[in-house]
Amino acid sequence: MSKNIPVTQPFLPPLSEFIPALEQIWANKWLTNNGPFHQEFEQALCDYLGVEHISLFANGTLALVTALQALRVTGEVITTPYSFVATSHALIWNDLTPVFVDIKPGSFNMDPDKIEAAITPRTTAIMPVHCYSEPCAMHEIQRIADNYGLSVIYDAAHAFGIKYQGQSILQHGDMSVLSFHATKVFNTFEGGAIVSRSKKIKQRVDYLKNFGFADEVTIVAPGINGKMSEFNAAFGLLQLKYVDEAISLREKIDGLYRAELGSVSGVSIPVLSTETQHNYSYFPILIEADYPLSRDELYQKLREHGILARRYFYPLISNMPMYRGLSSSLPDNLPQANLVADKILCLPIYPALEQPEQTRIIDIIRGRV
Ligand SMILES: *Cc1c(COP(=O)(O)O)cnc(C)c1O
Repeated sequence: MSKNIPVTQPFLPPLSEFIPALEQIWANKWLTNNGPFHQEFEQALCDYLGVEHISLFANGTLALVTALQALRVTGEVITTPYSFVATSHALIWNDLTPVFVDIKPGSFNMDPDKIEAAITPRTTAIMPVHCYSEPCAMHEIQRIADNYGLSVIYDAAHAFGIKYQGQSILQHGDMSVLSFHATKVFNTFEGGAIVSRSKKIKQRVDYLKNFGFADEVTIVAPGINGKMSEFNAAFGLLQLKYVDEAISLREKIDGLYRAELGSVSGVSIPVLSTETQHNYSYFPILIEADYPLSRDELYQKLREHGILARRYFYPLISNMPMYRGLSSSLPDNLPQANLVADKILCLPIYPALEQPEQTRIIDIIRGRV
């Protein structure tokens, strides 16, 4: 029995290159609280991503929770049910009510045409997700937000390095939140970041992630401990040198899947927009009614062959016990998201996935095995 193939696997730079950084941390005896690696990594990320203000975090979820605090979001927040649970959980941790709107047909992202109908006097913000790193309808969302005076916080956990029409998509909205979790395209073991629009807002985020301390004796808000350690920051700096190579290895895998699965009847592959510079973070396919197996049967068959494809995002957040009581969670309100959640399968994609392994996955889906 050969080893299992996971849906993703972290990209790791050579260990020998990380040792000098560890020696430096030992010499500095500065383990956290805005140390030299933290400062260098923040700047390096700004340069790489093409943004001005980044605040590093211990993980993406704490960054989401803090972003909502920093913008003083209250009441109801319009969001998408088609995401990882952390998107909605971050609202609940701020005592906010998620209001789910459906995703757009032919897309995995929030349908901008459905937003206005969901706005009430209690709405203060919109929290969309660049799902699988495909950019949201950012201009339409911003137009609505401007008309109604709403904040926009993008959950950009999938969207590391994404450019649309040559510009970083992380500059849109009031804030974008990144995740550097081990399963993401770019990782720092655990980690995350907030991209802010101004130095002033970044300052507030930086206070909030450090208990609200502005200086030794001035505490300006009931903040949290969301800080990234020197270990994670040093690893991130090293990882940044390899991320382009990692993305181009992913691109090759994406290309082979497209070439080999594009003509399989009953399998739909979402088209990538041509104006976007992609990161190939996921490889989602939709298993349609005319495929010989149901989505779950194919998922099981792959598992039996040791291939751990994942049904991201199933179940929908709106169908989870702690959310399904909300009126916006009714399946009739979210037909497209419910349809997609029942058809979706994300195939293994990561830099170290070898071609014979990928060919085996393709052969199973094509019914040759
Ligand atoms: C991974 C992820 C998060 C959470 O990030 P962590 O760093 O794991 O806390 C939030 N939203 C989405 C869409 C994600 O995929």
